[in-house]
Amino acid sequence: MNKTLYSIAAWAILAVLLGSWLGSTIGWAVFALGLLLMVLISGMQLQKIRGWVRDLHQPPPVSIGPWDEILAPVYRQLKADREQIASLNRGIEAIMLAAEALPDGAITLDESMGLQWCNQTAAEHLGLNLDTDMHHSIFNILRAPEFTQYVSQNKWDSPLLLHTEQAGLDKSLLIQLSPYGFGQFLMVTRDVTQVEKLETTRKDFVANVSHELRTPLTVLFGFLETLREHPADSFSVEQRERYEQMMFEQAQHMQAIVADLLTLSTLESSPPTEGRPVRVSLIIQHALEQAKALSNGQHQFVENIDPALCIVGSENELTSAISNLLTNAIRYTPKDGTITVSWYSTEDGGACYSVQDTGIGIAPQDIPRLTERFYRADKGRSRATGGTGLGLAITRHVAMRHNAELLIQSQFGTGSMFTLRFAPLRVRTL
Ligand code: ADP
Repeated sequence: MNKTLYSIAAWAILAVLLGSWLGSTIGWAVFALGLLLMVLISGMQLQKIRGWVRDLHQPPPVSIGPWDEILAPVYRQLKADREQIASLNRGIEAIMLAAEALPDGAITLDESMGLQWCNQTAAEHLGLNLDTDMHHSIFNILRAPEFTQYVSQNKWDSPLLLHTEQAGLDKSLLIQLSPYGFGQFLMVTRDVTQVEKLETTRKDFVANVSHELRTPLTVLFGFLETLREHPADSFSVEQRERYEQMMFEQAQHMQAIVADLLTLSTLESSPPTEGRPVRVSLIIQHALEQAKALSNGQHQFVENIDPALCIVGSENELTSAISNLLTNAIRYTPKDGTITVSWYSTEDGGACYSVQDTGIGIAPQDIPRLTERFYRADKGRSRATGGTGLGLAITRHVAMRHNAELLIQSQFGTGSMFTLRFAPLRVRTL
Protein backbone atom coordinates (compact mmCIF):
# COMPACT_ATOMS: atom_id res chain seq x y z
CA MET A 1 0.00 0.00 0.00
CA ASN A 2 2.92 2.25 0.76
CA LYS A 3 4.01 2.05 -2.87
CA THR A 4 0.55 3.21 -4.03
CA LEU A 5 0.57 6.15 -1.57
CA TYR A 6 4.09 7.13 -2.68
CA SER A 7 2.96 7.02 -6.34
CA ILE A 8 -0.08 9.23 -5.61
CA ALA A 9 2.16 11.63 -3.66
CA ALA A 10 4.68 11.70 -6.56
CA TRP A 11 1.93 12.48 -9.09
CA ALA A 12 0.53 15.17 -6.76
CA ILE A 13 3.98 16.85 -6.39
CA LEU A 14 4.53 16.69 -10.16
CA ALA A 15 1.03 18.20 -10.73
CA VAL A 16 1.67 21.01 -8.21
CA LEU A 17 5.04 21.85 -9.84
CA LEU A 18 3.60 21.81 -13.37
CA GLY A 19 0.49 23.71 -12.15
CA SER A 20 2.53 26.55 -10.66
CA TRP A 21 4.59 26.77 -13.85
CA LEU A 22 2.03 26.13 -16.64
CA GLY A 23 -1.22 26.93 -14.87
CA SER A 24 -3.53 25.01 -12.50
CA THR A 25 -5.53 23.37 -15.34
CA ILE A 26 -2.41 21.63 -16.62
CA GLY A 27 -1.52 20.67 -13.01
CA TRP A 28 -4.95 19.04 -12.44
CA ALA A 29 -4.83 17.35 -15.85
CA VAL A 30 -1.41 15.80 -15.09
CA PHE A 31 -2.66 14.63 -11.68
CA ALA A 32 -5.81 13.11 -13.22
CA LEU A 33 -3.72 11.45 -15.93
CA GLY A 34 -1.40 10.02 -13.29
CA LEU A 35 -4.32 8.58 -11.29
CA LEU A 36 -5.85 7.15 -14.46
CA LEU A 37 -2.54 5.50 -15.35
CA MET A 38 -2.32 4.00 -11.87
CA VAL A 39 -5.90 2.63 -12.11
CA LEU A 40 -5.10 1.11 -15.52
CA ILE A 41 -1.90 -0.58 -14.27
CA SER A 42 -3.76 -1.83 -11.18
CA GLY A 43 -6.54 -3.28 -13.40
CA MET A 44 -3.93 -5.17 -15.47
CA GLN A 45 -2.30 -6.50 -12.30
CA LEU A 46 -5.70 -7.65 -10.94
CA GLN A 47 -6.34 -9.42 -14.23
CA LYS A 48 -3.07 -11.37 -13.79
CA ILE A 49 -4.02 -12.22 -10.20
CA ARG A 50 -7.45 -13.45 -11.33
CA GLY A 51 -5.69 -15.84 -13.73
CA TRP A 52 -3.43 -17.12 -10.97
CA VAL A 53 -6.35 -17.72 -8.57
CA ARG A 54 -7.65 -20.32 -11.00
CA ASP A 55 -4.50 -22.42 -10.44
CA LEU A 56 -3.13 -21.75 -6.99
CA HIS A 57 -0.49 -24.49 -7.41
CA GLN A 58 1.54 -22.08 -9.57
CA PRO A 59 3.64 -19.31 -8.00
CA PRO A 60 1.95 -15.86 -8.17
CA PRO A 61 2.57 -13.87 -11.38
CA VAL A 62 5.50 -11.43 -11.58
CA SER A 63 5.07 -7.64 -12.00
CA ILE A 64 1.96 -7.29 -9.88
CA GLY A 65 3.32 -4.32 -8.03
CA PRO A 66 1.99 -3.82 -4.53
CA TRP A 67 0.01 -7.10 -4.68
CA ASP A 68 3.24 -9.04 -4.54
CA GLU A 69 3.66 -8.18 -0.86
CA ILE A 70 0.24 -9.69 -0.10
CA LEU A 71 0.27 -12.71 -2.40
CA ALA A 72 3.83 -13.96 -1.76
CA PRO A 73 3.16 -14.91 1.92
CA VAL A 74 -0.28 -16.32 0.97
CA TYR A 75 1.39 -18.50 -1.66
CA ARG A 76 4.09 -19.64 0.80
CA GLN A 77 1.42 -20.60 3.33
CA LEU A 78 -0.58 -22.44 0.67
CA LYS A 79 2.53 -24.35 -0.38
CA ALA A 80 3.37 -25.30 3.21
CA ASP A 81 -0.24 -26.47 3.79
CA ARG A 82 -0.16 -28.51 0.61
CA GLU A 83 3.06 -30.22 1.67
CA GLN A 84 1.63 -30.95 5.09
CA ILE A 85 -1.54 -32.44 3.58
CA ALA A 86 0.57 -34.57 1.21
CA SER A 87 2.69 -35.82 4.11
CA LEU A 88 -0.47 -36.62 6.13
CA ASN A 89 -1.91 -38.44 3.12
CA ARG A 90 1.30 -40.44 2.79
CA GLY A 91 1.00 -41.38 6.48
CA ILE A 92 -2.63 -42.45 6.04
CA GLU A 93 -1.73 -44.42 2.93
CA ALA A 94 1.08 -46.23 4.81
CA ILE A 95 -1.36 -47.10 7.63
CA MET A 96 -3.93 -48.36 5.10
CA LEU A 97 -1.29 -50.44 3.35
CA ALA A 98 -0.18 -51.88 6.70
CA ALA A 99 -3.82 -52.71 7.51
CA GLU A 100 -4.15 -54.40 4.12
CA ALA A 101 -0.99 -56.40 4.76
CA LEU A 102 -2.32 -57.74 8.07
CA PRO A 103 -2.67 -61.52 7.98
CA ASP A 104 -5.94 -61.09 9.89
CA GLY A 105 -9.12 -59.40 8.74
CA ALA A 106 -9.75 -55.91 10.21
CA ILE A 107 -13.09 -54.11 10.18
CA THR A 108 -14.08 -50.81 11.72
CA LEU A 109 -17.68 -50.28 12.79
CA ASP A 110 -19.42 -47.04 13.78
CA GLU A 111 -21.42 -46.58 16.99
CA SER A 112 -24.49 -48.18 15.42
CA MET A 113 -22.45 -51.16 14.19
CA GLY A 114 -22.41 -49.94 10.58
CA LEU A 115 -19.52 -51.05 8.42
CA GLN A 116 -17.06 -48.13 8.02
CA TRP A 117 -14.01 -49.78 6.56
CA CYS A 118 -12.46 -53.22 6.15
CA ASN A 119 -9.33 -54.70 4.66
CA GLN A 120 -9.33 -57.22 1.81
CA THR A 121 -8.73 -60.18 4.17
CA ALA A 122 -11.84 -59.32 6.18
CA ALA A 123 -13.83 -58.97 2.95
CA GLU A 124 -12.73 -62.48 1.99
CA HIS A 125 -13.43 -63.91 5.44
CA LEU A 126 -16.98 -62.56 5.59
CA GLY A 127 -17.72 -62.54 1.86
CA LEU A 128 -18.19 -58.75 1.94
CA ASN A 129 -18.86 -56.68 -1.12
CA LEU A 130 -17.13 -53.38 -0.41
CA ASP A 131 -19.32 -51.46 -2.86
CA THR A 132 -22.68 -52.56 -1.54
CA ASP A 133 -22.05 -53.44 2.12
CA MET A 134 -20.42 -50.17 3.24
CA HIS A 135 -22.39 -48.41 6.04
CA HIS A 136 -24.73 -51.41 6.39
CA SER A 137 -25.22 -52.91 9.81
CA ILE A 138 -22.83 -55.79 10.51
CA PHE A 139 -25.83 -57.78 11.81
CA ASN A 140 -27.31 -57.74 8.32
CA ILE A 141 -24.00 -58.82 6.84
CA LEU A 142 -23.12 -61.54 9.35
CA ARG A 143 -26.39 -63.24 10.12
CA ALA A 144 -25.58 -65.69 12.88
CA PRO A 145 -27.33 -65.87 16.27
CA GLU A 146 -24.00 -66.64 18.06
CA PHE A 147 -22.51 -63.47 16.56
CA THR A 148 -25.49 -61.32 17.60
CA GLN A 149 -25.24 -62.75 21.11
CA TYR A 150 -21.47 -62.14 21.20
CA VAL A 151 -21.83 -58.51 20.12
CA SER A 152 -24.62 -57.83 22.59
CA GLN A 153 -22.37 -58.54 25.57
CA ASN A 154 -20.56 -55.50 26.94
CA LYS A 155 -17.11 -57.03 27.41
CA TRP A 156 -15.24 -59.01 24.81
CA ASP A 157 -12.45 -60.70 26.71
CA SER A 158 -12.23 -63.73 24.48
CA PRO A 159 -12.88 -64.24 20.76
CA LEU A 160 -15.92 -65.97 19.27
CA LEU A 161 -15.41 -69.12 17.22
CA LEU A 162 -17.92 -68.92 14.40
CA HIS A 163 -18.63 -71.74 11.96
CA THR A 164 -19.91 -70.39 8.66
CA GLU A 165 -20.39 -71.60 5.13
CA GLN A 166 -19.08 -69.79 2.09
CA ALA A 167 -19.51 -70.93 -1.49
CA GLY A 168 -20.47 -74.37 -0.20
CA LEU A 169 -17.31 -74.67 1.93
CA ASP A 170 -17.26 -74.83 5.71
CA LYS A 171 -15.26 -72.06 7.32
CA SER A 172 -14.21 -71.50 10.93
CA LEU A 173 -13.59 -67.89 11.95
CA LEU A 174 -12.26 -66.43 15.18
CA ILE A 175 -13.86 -63.03 15.77
CA GLN A 176 -12.64 -60.51 18.33
CA LEU A 177 -14.42 -57.21 18.95
CA SER A 178 -12.74 -54.25 20.72
CA PRO A 179 -14.13 -50.77 21.33
CA TYR A 180 -11.97 -47.79 20.36
CA GLY A 181 -12.20 -44.02 19.79
CA PHE A 182 -15.62 -42.49 20.39
CA GLY A 183 -18.04 -45.40 20.37
CA GLN A 184 -16.40 -47.13 17.40
CA PHE A 185 -15.44 -50.78 17.24
CA LEU A 186 -12.57 -52.73 15.73
CA MET A 187 -13.42 -56.25 14.68
CA VAL A 188 -10.57 -58.67 13.93
CA THR A 189 -11.27 -61.90 12.06
CA ARG A 190 -8.96 -64.92 11.69
CA ASP A 191 -9.56 -67.94 9.47
CA VAL A 192 -8.87 -71.01 11.61
CA THR A 193 -10.40 -73.57 9.23
CA GLN A 194 -7.05 -75.25 8.59
CA VAL A 195 -6.06 -75.19 12.26
CA GLU A 196 -9.39 -76.80 13.18
CA LYS A 197 -8.99 -79.40 10.44
CA LEU A 198 -5.49 -80.24 11.69
CA GLU A 199 -6.79 -80.57 15.22
CA THR A 200 -9.56 -82.91 14.02
CA THR A 201 -7.01 -84.91 12.00
CA ARG A 202 -4.77 -85.17 15.06
CA LYS A 203 -7.65 -86.37 17.23
CA ASP A 204 -8.75 -88.86 14.55
CA PHE A 205 -5.18 -90.06 14.24
CA VAL A 206 -4.80 -90.71 17.94
CA ALA A 207 -8.17 -92.53 17.95
CA ASN A 208 -7.12 -94.58 14.90
CA VAL A 209 -3.75 -95.57 16.35
CA SER A 210 -5.42 -96.63 19.61
CA HIS A 211 -7.98 -98.63 17.68
CA GLU A 212 -5.36 -100.27 15.43
CA LEU A 213 -3.23 -101.33 18.39
CA ARG A 214 -6.13 -102.34 20.59
CA THR A 215 -7.32 -105.11 18.25
CA PRO A 216 -4.07 -107.15 18.22
CA LEU A 217 -3.50 -106.35 21.90
CA THR A 218 -6.93 -107.72 22.82
CA VAL A 219 -6.23 -110.91 20.90
CA LEU A 220 -2.79 -111.26 22.48
CA PHE A 221 -4.20 -110.58 25.91
CA GLY A 222 -6.96 -113.16 25.39
CA PHE A 223 -4.48 -115.91 24.52
CA LEU A 224 -2.19 -115.03 27.40
CA GLU A 225 -5.11 -115.11 29.82
CA THR A 226 -6.24 -118.51 28.51
CA LEU A 227 -2.73 -119.89 28.89
CA ARG A 228 -2.35 -118.47 32.37
CA GLU A 229 -5.71 -119.56 33.70
CA HIS A 230 -5.42 -123.15 32.58
CA PRO A 231 -2.87 -125.67 33.82
CA ALA A 232 -0.02 -126.26 31.38
CA ASP A 233 -1.09 -129.83 30.68
CA SER A 234 -4.63 -128.88 29.66
CA PHE A 235 -3.40 -128.01 26.11
CA SER A 236 -2.01 -130.36 23.56
CA VAL A 237 1.38 -129.49 22.02
CA GLU A 238 -0.35 -128.58 18.71
CA GLN A 239 -2.88 -126.36 20.49
CA ARG A 240 -0.14 -124.56 22.39
CA GLU A 241 1.89 -124.13 19.20
CA ARG A 242 -1.15 -122.72 17.39
CA TYR A 243 -1.76 -120.24 20.19
CA GLU A 244 1.88 -119.18 20.20
CA GLN A 245 1.82 -118.73 16.43
CA MET A 246 -1.28 -116.52 16.68
CA MET A 247 0.27 -114.46 19.46
CA PHE A 248 3.43 -114.09 17.40
CA GLU A 249 1.43 -112.84 14.41
CA GLN A 250 -0.42 -110.27 16.53
CA ALA A 251 2.84 -109.04 18.07
CA GLN A 252 4.36 -108.86 14.60
CA HIS A 253 1.37 -106.83 13.38
CA MET A 254 1.76 -104.37 16.25
CA GLN A 255 5.46 -104.11 15.50
CA ALA A 256 4.69 -103.38 11.83
CA ILE A 257 2.23 -100.62 12.83
CA VAL A 258 4.74 -99.03 15.20
CA ALA A 259 7.52 -99.24 12.57
CA ASP A 260 5.30 -97.60 9.93
CA LEU A 261 4.21 -94.91 12.39
CA LEU A 262 7.84 -94.13 13.15
CA THR A 263 8.64 -93.95 9.42
CA LEU A 264 5.70 -91.60 8.85
CA SER A 265 6.64 -89.42 11.78
CA THR A 266 10.26 -89.18 10.54
CA LEU A 267 9.04 -88.27 7.05
CA GLU A 268 6.71 -85.61 8.42
CA SER A 269 9.10 -84.04 10.88
CA SER A 270 12.46 -84.04 9.10
CA PRO A 271 13.24 -81.65 6.25
CA PRO A 272 13.72 -83.35 2.85
CA THR A 273 17.37 -84.01 2.15
CA GLU A 274 18.98 -83.11 -1.16
CA GLY A 275 20.34 -86.67 -1.37
CA ARG A 276 22.54 -88.18 -4.04
CA PRO A 277 21.81 -90.04 -7.31
CA VAL A 278 20.28 -93.40 -6.41
CA ARG A 279 20.25 -96.30 -8.89
CA VAL A 280 16.57 -97.06 -8.77
CA SER A 281 16.91 -100.20 -10.93
CA LEU A 282 18.98 -101.86 -8.17
CA ILE A 283 16.33 -101.02 -5.56
CA ILE A 284 13.60 -102.40 -7.85
CA GLN A 285 15.58 -105.64 -8.41
CA HIS A 286 16.01 -106.10 -4.70
CA ALA A 287 12.31 -105.34 -4.03
CA LEU A 288 11.36 -107.78 -6.79
CA GLU A 289 13.36 -110.58 -5.14
CA GLN A 290 11.48 -110.01 -1.88
CA ALA A 291 8.16 -109.71 -3.74
CA LYS A 292 8.73 -113.02 -5.53
CA ALA A 293 9.47 -114.69 -2.21
CA LEU A 294 6.23 -113.25 -0.81
CA SER A 295 4.29 -114.33 -3.90
CA ASN A 296 5.69 -117.83 -3.52
CA GLY A 297 5.22 -118.58 -7.22
CA GLN A 298 1.57 -117.54 -7.26
CA HIS A 299 1.99 -114.59 -9.62
CA GLN A 300 3.63 -113.87 -12.92
CA PHE A 301 6.04 -110.96 -13.10
CA VAL A 302 6.74 -108.79 -16.14
CA GLU A 303 9.73 -106.45 -15.82
CA ASN A 304 10.52 -103.47 -17.94
CA ILE A 305 13.33 -101.61 -16.18
CA ASP A 306 15.77 -99.00 -17.46
CA PRO A 307 19.06 -99.71 -15.63
CA ALA A 308 20.59 -96.29 -16.34
CA LEU A 309 17.95 -94.05 -14.74
CA CYS A 310 18.80 -92.57 -11.34
CA ILE A 311 16.86 -90.36 -8.94
CA VAL A 312 18.51 -87.81 -6.70
CA GLY A 313 17.18 -88.45 -3.24
CA SER A 314 17.17 -90.70 -0.22
CA GLU A 315 17.85 -94.39 -0.90
CA ASN A 316 15.96 -95.53 2.21
CA GLU A 317 12.87 -93.52 1.41
CA LEU A 318 12.83 -94.60 -2.24
CA THR A 319 13.26 -98.24 -1.18
CA SER A 320 10.29 -97.95 1.14
CA ALA A 321 8.00 -96.42 -1.55
CA ILE A 322 9.09 -98.85 -4.27
CA SER A 323 8.58 -101.98 -2.19
CA ASN A 324 5.28 -100.70 -0.69
CA LEU A 325 3.70 -100.51 -4.15
CA LEU A 326 5.09 -103.89 -5.14
CA THR A 327 4.01 -105.63 -1.92
CA ASN A 328 0.52 -104.15 -2.25
CA ALA A 329 0.24 -105.48 -5.81
CA ILE A 330 0.96 -109.00 -4.53
CA ARG A 331 -1.32 -108.71 -1.50
CA TYR A 332 -4.27 -107.44 -3.55
CA THR A 333 -3.84 -109.72 -6.57
CA PRO A 334 -5.25 -113.22 -6.34
CA LYS A 335 -3.32 -116.32 -7.45
CA ASP A 336 -2.22 -116.51 -11.11
CA GLY A 337 -2.43 -112.74 -11.55
CA THR A 338 0.21 -110.75 -13.42
CA ILE A 339 2.28 -107.95 -11.97
CA THR A 340 4.08 -105.60 -14.37
CA VAL A 341 6.87 -103.46 -12.98
CA SER A 342 8.17 -100.61 -15.15
CA TRP A 343 10.89 -97.99 -14.68
CA TYR A 344 11.27 -95.67 -17.64
CA SER A 345 12.02 -92.12 -18.67
CA THR A 346 9.29 -89.84 -19.93
CA GLU A 347 9.33 -87.44 -22.87
CA ASP A 348 9.66 -84.35 -20.67
CA GLY A 349 12.87 -85.69 -19.09
CA GLY A 350 11.13 -87.09 -15.99
CA ALA A 351 10.90 -90.72 -14.93
CA CYS A 352 8.11 -93.10 -13.90
CA TYR A 353 8.01 -96.15 -11.67
CA SER A 354 4.77 -98.04 -12.16
CA VAL A 355 3.36 -101.25 -10.73
CA GLN A 356 0.40 -102.67 -12.58
CA ASP A 357 -1.58 -105.66 -11.34
CA THR A 358 -4.53 -107.73 -12.46
CA GLY A 359 -5.89 -107.83 -8.93
CA ILE A 360 -9.08 -106.93 -7.11
CA GLY A 361 -9.02 -103.28 -8.14
CA ILE A 362 -10.41 -100.34 -6.19
CA ALA A 363 -13.86 -98.73 -6.29
CA PRO A 364 -13.74 -95.14 -7.70
CA GLN A 365 -14.99 -93.59 -4.45
CA ASP A 366 -12.10 -95.15 -2.50
CA ILE A 367 -9.30 -93.97 -4.80
CA PRO A 368 -8.99 -90.36 -3.54
CA ARG A 369 -8.83 -91.55 0.08
CA LEU A 370 -6.28 -94.37 -0.25
CA THR A 371 -3.33 -92.25 0.89
CA GLU A 372 -5.06 -91.22 4.13
CA ARG A 373 -3.53 -92.80 7.16
CA PHE A 374 -5.29 -96.09 8.09
CA TYR A 375 -7.74 -95.86 5.20
CA ARG A 376 -8.42 -99.29 3.75
CA ALA A 377 -10.63 -100.03 0.78
CA ASP A 378 -10.59 -103.76 1.49
CA LYS A 379 -10.34 -104.06 5.26
CA GLY A 380 -10.56 -107.85 5.39
CA ARG A 381 -7.78 -108.46 2.89
CA SER A 382 -5.58 -105.73 4.35
CA ARG A 383 -5.74 -107.21 7.86
CA ALA A 384 -5.47 -110.82 6.63
CA THR A 385 -2.25 -109.95 4.78
CA GLY A 386 -0.80 -108.02 7.73
CA GLY A 387 -1.45 -104.55 6.28
CA THR A 388 -0.99 -101.54 8.52
CA GLY A 389 -3.05 -99.12 6.42
CA LEU A 390 -0.05 -96.78 6.35
CA GLY A 391 1.86 -97.97 3.27
CA LEU A 392 0.34 -95.55 0.76
CA ALA A 393 0.49 -92.64 3.23
CA ILE A 394 4.24 -93.30 3.52
CA THR A 395 4.58 -93.64 -0.27
CA ARG A 396 2.79 -90.33 -0.86
CA HIS A 397 5.11 -88.58 1.61
CA VAL A 398 8.19 -90.04 -0.04
CA ALA A 399 6.81 -88.89 -3.41
CA MET A 400 6.28 -85.34 -2.15
CA ARG A 401 9.82 -85.22 -0.77
CA HIS A 402 11.21 -86.25 -4.16
CA ASN A 403 9.22 -83.89 -6.43
CA ALA A 404 7.13 -86.83 -7.53
CA GLU A 405 3.41 -87.50 -7.85
CA LEU A 406 1.63 -90.69 -6.84
CA LEU A 407 -0.95 -91.52 -9.50
CA ILE A 408 -3.56 -94.21 -8.91
CA GLN A 409 -5.56 -95.74 -11.74
CA SER A 410 -7.83 -98.67 -11.05
CA GLN A 411 -10.85 -100.54 -12.20
CA PHE A 412 -12.80 -102.39 -9.60
CA GLY A 413 -12.49 -106.15 -10.16
CA THR A 414 -9.97 -105.79 -12.98
CA GLY A 415 -6.74 -104.38 -11.56
CA SER A 416 -4.80 -101.30 -10.58
CA MET A 417 -1.80 -99.28 -11.61
CA PHE A 418 0.17 -97.21 -9.12
CA THR A 419 2.68 -94.79 -10.65
CA LEU A 420 5.35 -92.60 -9.09
CA ARG A 421 6.08 -89.82 -11.59
CA PHE A 422 9.33 -87.98 -10.84
CA ALA A 423 9.97 -84.43 -12.09
CA PRO A 424 12.92 -83.94 -14.51
CA LEU A 425 14.96 -82.02 -11.92
CA ARG A 426 15.39 -85.25 -9.91
CA VAL A 427 16.37 -87.47 -12.81
CA ARG A 428 19.96 -88.39 -13.73
CA THR A 429 21.21 -90.87 -16.30
CA LEU A 430 24.31 -93.01 -15.90
P1 ADP B 1 -2.50 -101.60 3.67
O1 ADP B 1 -1.46 -101.88 4.65
O2 ADP B 1 -3.88 -101.74 4.20
O3 ADP B 1 -2.29 -102.24 2.36
P2 ADP B 1 -1.88 -99.19 2.21
O4 ADP B 1 -1.79 -97.80 2.68
O5 ADP B 1 -0.69 -99.78 1.56
O6 ADP B 1 -2.38 -100.02 3.46
O7 ADP B 1 -3.09 -99.28 1.20
C1 ADP B 1 -4.33 -98.68 1.54
C2 ADP B 1 -5.47 -99.44 0.92
O8 ADP B 1 -5.40 -99.31 -0.49
C3 ADP B 1 -5.41 -100.91 1.15
O9 ADP B 1 -6.03 -101.26 2.38
C4 ADP B 1 -6.16 -101.47 -0.04
O10 ADP B 1 -7.55 -101.49 0.23
C5 ADP B 1 -5.89 -100.47 -1.14
N1 ADP B 1 -4.85 -100.91 -2.08
C6 ADP B 1 -3.55 -100.61 -2.06
N2 ADP B 1 -2.89 -101.16 -3.10
C7 ADP B 1 -3.82 -101.86 -3.80
C8 ADP B 1 -3.78 -102.66 -5.01
N3 ADP B 1 -2.65 -102.84 -5.67
N4 ADP B 1 -4.94 -103.18 -5.41
C9 ADP B 1 -6.09 -102.97 -4.75
N5 ADP B 1 -6.20 -102.25 -3.61
C10 ADP B 1 -5.07 -101.69 -3.16
